[in-house]
Formats: sequence, structure tokens, C-alpha cells
Amino acid sequence: ARVLVVGSGAREHAIAWALAKSPRRPRLYAAPGNPGMAAWCEMVNLRVDDVSGIAQFAARERIDLVVVGPELPLALGLADACAAAGVRVFGPSRAAARLESSKAFAKAVMAKAGVPTAAYATFTDPAAAKAYIRQQGAPIVVKADGLAAGKGVVVAETIAAAEAAIDALMVGGKFGAAGATVVIEQFLRGREASLMFFVDGETVRPLLPARDYKRVGDGDTGPNTGGMGAFAPVPEVTADVVADVERRIVRPTLAELRARGIVYRGVLYAGLMLTEDGPYVVEFNARFGDPETEVVLPLLASDLLAILWATAEGRLADVEVAWRDEAAVCVVLAAPGYPERPQTGAAITLPDGLPETVFHAGTAQRGDGQLVTAGGRVLTVTGTGPDLTAARAAAYRAAEAITFPGKHMRKDIALVVH
Ligand code: ATP
Repeated sequence: ARVLVVGSGAREHAIAWALAKSPRRPRLYAAPGNPGMAAWCEMVNLRVDDVSGIAQFAARERIDLVVVGPELPLALGLADACAAAGVRVFGPSRAAARLESSKAFAKAVMAKAGVPTAAYATFTDPAAAKAYIRQQGAPIVVKADGLAAGKGVVVAETIAAAEAAIDALMVGGKFGAAGATVVIEQFLRGREASLMFFVDGETVRPLLPARDYKRVGDGDTGPNTGGMGAFAPVPEVTADVVADVERRIVRPTLAELRARGIVYRGVLYAGLMLTEDGPYVVEFNARFGDPETEVVLPLLASDLLAILWATAEGRLADVEVAWRDEAAVCVVLAAPGYPERPQTGAAITLPDGLPETVFHAGTAQRGDGQLVTAGGRVLTVTGTGPDLTAARAAAYRAAEAITFPGKHMRKDIALVVH
């Protein structure tokens, strides 16, 4: 089988790594991929937003399955373009991916479906938005409607901070059209968890629950990032909680989409707040989480290729989705200055004896073969073990052994778990 993975981050590296383990021995391609994937993937020089280019390549090269990593190509209709070109694709249609690409749409679907989520209102007029904020009081959460790479959300402690967020988004145009509409939400209290599901249009199968660390500094301090680490499974997200999320959140959401003529196929990621009243949805994503995927896929006992293929064909009920009774922890090695102004171009030293689960994100290979930093998040280092303590030790052993100038990592990933 010929499988094309779209994307170039640690998430896509982890997906390709898991696919390479398939007994079907797939021939793997990556567009555009990264140096870590180059060992067993053919690199395809296409950008993730080149939707027609990727669909044409897949049709021409007789790709059997396209696996879409990031949200941008999904929001641009890559799954639709593949389907139109007769290529099997893992990932939702553009219409289904609006659960992620429009927060106003996601909230409207959840409200209609009776899914537990924060009370909210949607605005296109800044004055009306501010009036609502003053009426509701703080803390309150202001979100850009569209895709903003995880930076379009302000959890405001004061009314003034919330109003400033409205000005930045709606008047200053900080995220362009993505911020022309805002969702204003009630502040939810609790711990967060990420729970992903394979969805084939009908059948739903949960992945292991994970928790990620968004803030750059130890003790959850400093600015938000794309994620500095993660662990799986999450002890407090028991099998009962997973079943509850499937029954009260995922199934009603899929039913409401279906009522609107939309079939969801791919991974549905539920970002949850575990409140006193049970799990509430903070956000939906239409794809694998990053860095959650880097801890969840190493714990998969079944054949990922079989699962993704069956999901794409609506046959998920026919395949096994089983998990190892182990734990995984990942630590992100970031460039100095991340997230504001990451400095790149530094030589990376990877010693011998590292686990296979060192996933590349912002790396590049220089002309002389030297691996160098090329982005804010450089590598995601995953350790696995019989429990979280062992997994954590394995992750930090490898993370410490890898060196580059200015390397920054959090020291407290999975240190305290609930
Ligand atoms: P990403 O895709 O990077 O996870 P995003 O831009 O889609 O982020 P959200 O996940 O909606 O944004 O929000 C980002 C973070 O803000 C959440 O992980 C959570 O910590 C906080 N947050 C969002 N909504 C609420 C809420 N209603 N109450 C409390 N905190 C919230």
C-alpha cells in the first residue's frame, strides 16, 4: 500500500512512525515531511496548503490512502479534493472540519445537540461584544472564531482585559478575518484533558486520554505555546468518563452534524474541562492533537494503518483498536526565544541509543548533513514505560541527552498527575 502523510511536525512524524510498523509494510510518502521522517518516507515537496497539488500528486502516484495531519489543509478542503480525485483519505471534509475552523459553528452545533459546553454568545460588532462582557463580568473568555494557531483565545481575568481582547481581534484585526467574529464564553473551572475518537461516519472508537501542557514555563507560567509536553493515559479520565464523553458529547454532536447533511470521518478531538458537573467541551479539533498524538500512538497495540484505512472507508467496526497497558510522556525541546521569537539554525547533537520515539518538528538538514534547529518546537521526545513514573524517566533521560545551544524544556511534565 502507498500512504501519503500530509504535514511536517512531530505529530506527523509520530503518525508515520506508527504506520511504518504496520504488518502491511506500506510505502510511505510525506508532504512536505521533516528530516526525521526521511529515514523511511519519500519526501514530497508540496506545502500543506497546496490542496490541489496534493490531491493531484496522490491521484497520479496511485496513493491508496492520504492521512491529513494539520487543520489548515482540512479547512481548505483537502479531504474533499482527494475524494473528488478518487483518492481514499483519512480526515474530515471541509464542512465537517468547521467544528474546528469556526468556533461559532461548533458552539451552535453543541447548543442544538445539548452538549455540555460553556454558555456563550457570538458577535460581529465590537460595541455589542463589550456590552455583553460588562453585563456578564469577569473572568470571561474571548475567542476568535477562525483558525489562529492556538493564539486566538484570551482568558480574561478582568473586564478591561476582555475589552482589550475585543479591540485586538475586532478593531485591530490581529488575526484578520478569523477574528472578525468572536465567541465570548463563560469561564469554566477544572482540569483539562484531551480525548480523541476515531469516527467513520457511524462507528466511534476512543483513543487513550491525554493531557497537554500549553504554557511555556514550569508550573504553568508564561505565554501559551503549541504545547510543551503531554502524558497518557490520564488517571482521572476513567473508562466511565470516556463512555460518558462518547454518549453525552461525541454521539449527539455527530447526530447534529448528520441532521445538517454532514458526515464526519477522521479523528474528532474533544478538548475537555473536567468540571464539578462532569466533562464540558472547551473546543473541538478536526485532527490528531499535537503533542497528544506523540504520547497516544506509541501506546497503540493495533495496526494504525488498518484503523485509518477502515475509518476512511466507513468500516471502523471491522478492525481492532486496542491499547497497551502502559504509559507515555513526551517533552518538547524548544528553541531559545520560543514562543515569541525562536532563534534557529543551531546544530543539534543526537547521541546514539535514543529511543525510536524522538519525533522531529522544527529541524532541517544542512547541506553538509548537519541537523539544525529550524522552528520553535524542535523535537518531541517520548518515553514509554509500565507506568507514568517510568515513562517520565525515559522521556527526560532522552531529552537531557539531546543537545543544542539554548535548548529549552519544561522540567515538570507529568510530575504531578491526576
Ligand atoms: P488550541 O487549538 O491550541 O488548543 P484554541 O485556540 O483552539 O487552542 P481553545 O482550546 O478554545 O483555543 O482555548 C485555549 C485554552 O484556553 C484552553 O485550553 C483553556 O485552557 C482555555 N480556555 C478556553 N475556553 C475556556 C473556558 N470557557 N473556560 C476556561 N478556560 C478556557
